[in-house]
Amino acid sequence: MAVHVMLGNDAIEVQRVFCIGRNYAAHAAELGNETPGEPVLFMKPPTAIVQADVIELPRERGSVHHETELVLLVGRDAAAGVADMAGITLGLDLTLRDEQSKLKAKGLPWELAKAFENSAPLGRFVAPPRDLAALEFECHVNGERRQHGKVANMLFSPARLLAFLGANFRLLKGDLIFTGTPEGVGPLVPGDNIEISSSAIGEFAWQCR
Ligand code: ZN
Repeated sequence: MAVHVMLGNDAIEVQRVFCIGRNYAAHAAELGNETPGEPVLFMKPPTAIVQADVIELPRERGSVHHETELVLLVGRDAAAGVADMAGITLGLDLTLRDEQSKLKAKGLPWELAKAFENSAPLGRFVAPPRDLAALEFECHVNGERRQHGKVANMLFSPARLLAFLGANFRLLKGDLIFTGTPEGVGPLVPGDNIEISSSAIGEFAWQCR
């Protein structure tokens, strides 16, 4: 099943969803992790993307945390090196935190805790602003502010992440990159309303079921 995202009037087929972990020092610290010397990478399948306004949370699998993140869209295939960034939006890297803690303790990959169905709610893409480093974003749950992210606080900037990924993968038009979450992650439960916003991008909200 092909999944598409819109950039302006163009529907772009999503190829892969790369996700970066521990890209903000304060978030790494709140989970008791060290800050990495190079980006921590995992992936989600495109079918994890949610573009409707309802999030069906997984049940009976422990706590589901919201991680609010800037998401990049690769605009054209790159043979090697740095790809261009055609769009940005905000998204949620939903995480089964209890399950992830167990996997981490065993030294196992995180995908069972990260790549489940509906684990990647996404806003609408816009062209990147000229000064991406000045971008800030927020997450409110039931009207209460939980997260406030600043791109300037990333350990690896969007440009460095694109270079890192481009050095390890042939980036393709339609690749998405979740760039990591700032501190303030916390649980979502059925009935919660979650809203993520940035003056440079827009406001996106979901009802949790
Ligand atoms: Zn994340």
